[in-house]
Amino acid sequence: MPETPYETLVRLLKRADLIGSALDLLRWDEQVNLPPASSARRGGQSAALAELHHQAATDPAIGETLAQLEAALPDLDELQQVVVRRARRDFDREIRLPSAFVAARATLDSEAFHAWKLARERSGFASFAPFLSRQIEMAKQEAAYQGCSERPYDYLLDKFDPGLTEAEVSRLFSELRAELVPFVREIVAAGAQSRRAEMKGFPITAQDTFLREVTRRIGFDFQRGRIDVAVHPFCSGDAADTRLTTRFFEDDPLSSLFSAVHEAGHGLYEQGLPLEHLGTPLGKAVGMAIHESQSRLWENQVARSRSFWTHFEPAFREKFSARLGGWSSDDIYLAINTVELKPIRVESDEVTYNLHIMLRFELERRLFGSELLVADLPRAWNELSRELLGLTPESDAVGVLQDVHWSGGAFGYFPSYCVGNMIAAQFWYAALEAMPDLEARFAEGDFSDLLAWLRREVHSHGRRFDTGELVRKVTGAKLAPTRLMRYLRERYGPLYLPATR
Ligand code: ZN
Repeated sequence: MPETPYETLVRLLKRADLIGSALDLLRWDEQVNLPPASSARRGGQSAALAELHHQAATDPAIGETLAQLEAALPDLDELQQVVVRRARRDFDREIRLPSAFVAARATLDSEAFHAWKLARERSGFASFAPFLSRQIEMAKQEAAYQGCSERPYDYLLDKFDPGLTEAEVSRLFSELRAELVPFVREIVAAGAQSRRAEMKGFPITAQDTFLREVTRRIGFDFQRGRIDVAVHPFCSGDAADTRLTTRFFEDDPLSSLFSAVHEAGHGLYEQGLPLEHLGTPLGKAVGMAIHESQSRLWENQVARSRSFWTHFEPAFREKFSARLGGWSSDDIYLAINTVELKPIRVESDEVTYNLHIMLRFELERRLFGSELLVADLPRAWNELSRELLGLTPESDAVGVLQDVHWSGGAFGYFPSYCVGNMIAAQFWYAALEAMPDLEARFAEGDFSDLLAWLRREVHSHGRRFDTGELVRKVTGAKLAPTRLMRYLRERYGPLYLPATR
């Protein structure tokens, strides 16, 4: 039998995806295994595959097949229609960008990255400013190619989280800010007795064994995934082959553990995407915020909970008996849930982290709304840092230059982290409502009910729904910060503000 147009589309999409996944694997290998003198070779390999991938994803045959299918859309079933709709959007977005523009941006990305690194080493923003200005211009140009020149920042947000807009993020963040800023002030004023800084000399091999036990127990499938060591923790790959990385510090064992659980949360999402749809939009994640909701839910709601540690504390003590002699269960629990204002986003706890994201969103919003000039960015950063965090960064290196994202033109990406936290809390309470004994099961080391629920409610849909649609479908409510605040109060109130409970 000849191929139907729909089968042709799926074949072409899967071919492009296979090439893309090979490119991902090369990038993973670059972070994990690549010998130091081999990076030029890898650069060439990656560029060649990236070109092949672009050719496959913009194959005119995809456009022709899509046109054919769109002409007879009612003949397709509902899921097939989703594939056609999503594939059309991806295809159009790929072909609207002239190849000269794509090449110019790749060059700028590399130049701007080096300029950022140098500027950060010297802690001087001025030398990076011209590169940042060009990146902003390029992002606006990209939005214009996509027909979004009126509202470039909306386009950038939508690129990472389908359906998200500046107006909605502004609403979510101002609601959260009104409650979170005073809550953080209260916690900081209460003062912490955390002994986290005393956790020193935890052998790496035992850390490695422990985090593998934890990630296996929560459901990460090592038959089609692995964990390796890299400078920056990340998750890459897909449902068929999921790669996680973490990093180890002898004097900060909780860092490697929670990085691993975080990345395993991303990995569980990837492994839960339907394998039969691998390579099509139904086998892909919705976007960054939903992805982040999965990593944060496992890292925070689950792995920082009392019930989780009721189960894992004996194994943790056994692995590190020489280090935890004088530690009570409460000491360990408070170390895990230490809240402290820090100038650096990636060193922040789950409470104050959200303030770091609001700061970046506000600055991006002003930059793209032409309310703020790049030259004034360090001053605006420091002002907002005082307002939100109560801190003035000591230097640009630990202030405006601390993140790599803007050097690569990744604008509209930061909000996903905080929106992901909101979604994680919304999913968490929906799961608790459906399964009131969830935490009792955690205490017994059983996480399968939660994973099965997430598989069914979230993972199995692939990209069938936009971010907000999926939240509404799973929780029956729209995206909002109220559940996140409820969760933070329930978790951190008893630890830091017992008098108010
Ligand atoms: Zn993440």
